[in-house]
Amino acid sequence: MTPLSELAQGQQYPAAALYVVATPIGNIADITLRALHVLGLADRIAAEDTRNTGQLLARYGISKPLVAVHQHNERVAAQRVIEYLRAGERVAYVSDAGTPGISDPGAKLVDAVREAGFAVIPLPGASALATALSVTGDWVATFSFLGFLPPKPKARAAALQALAQHPHAMVFYEAPHRIVETVQALGDAFGGTRRLLIARELTKLHEALHRGTLAEAPTWLAADTNRQRGEFVLVVEGASPEVTGEHDHDALLGILLEELTVSSAAKIAASLTGASRNALYARALALKEDKPET
Ligand code: SAM
Repeated sequence: MTPLSELAQGQQYPAAALYVVATPIGNIADITLRALHVLGLADRIAAEDTRNTGQLLARYGISKPLVAVHQHNERVAAQRVIEYLRAGERVAYVSDAGTPGISDPGAKLVDAVREAGFAVIPLPGASALATALSVTGDWVATFSFLGFLPPKPKARAAALQALAQHPHAMVFYEAPHRIVETVQALGDAFGGTRRLLIARELTKLHEALHRGTLAEAPTWLAADTNRQRGEFVLVVEGASPEVTGEHDHDALLGILLEELTVSSAAKIAASLTGASRNALYARALALKEDKPET
């Protein structure tokens, strides 16, 4: 059997390319062999925070020239990275933790590098989003990632109100100083019965996973202030199809029925709205029967 290190080395790692590398979200052992190989191979490492990344790399025995690419200088710093790529370098990009570009800098750098004609190569690894979802359970079939909610109460309430009928589970990130008010705001906007997973300090010493409802989550958080510390992922159940009315998707079904069979219209409407395919089929059939022949 091929040794794992050879598998990591066996991939193509072209020069003059940007490697977007995921790093751990807590436990520093959560890094892939390929990520370590590429960080070792890179001529330069662009990082959201060069001090943090320098310390992390030291733990892996890697020392490379570092260049800062963060939220406030991403466009300008991208031009510097492009110069290094023009000189034929392999440049790796890492954010502070997890996967770059997910509630982290990286997206603008990726666009600029690609527009300049250089390859962008992803190296997968840890992300708080995927880690939390992997243990959420069977009530999440589909989800939307919303990242951080607006910090101001009015803007947050408005953002949540707009999501009240969202049919898919929603994943939010939250910081410790806002966790209590955010969980309260979720309950105010969506009602208490929806399921919620609070994933706290994933992969770290004080990792905690709490499964409950929006109604009882504030009590759980208040019961021990330690539960309000650390970093959080919140997974909230989407609106259930029962709360929407039988006629809610008539307009969409009407348009689809102009061109499609009842079955195809129901199938497409179900994937667009998240509503039950059987219910949409029954409604589409009724609409078709009601419609006078032309
Ligand atoms: N790019 C990262 C990723 O792939 O997950 C996310 C970076 S974002 C700036 C940081 C937020 O991610 C934290 O405020 C928290 O909501 C979430 N997060 C990061 N690490 C976490 C962990 N170990 N446990 C729970 N949530 C975490």
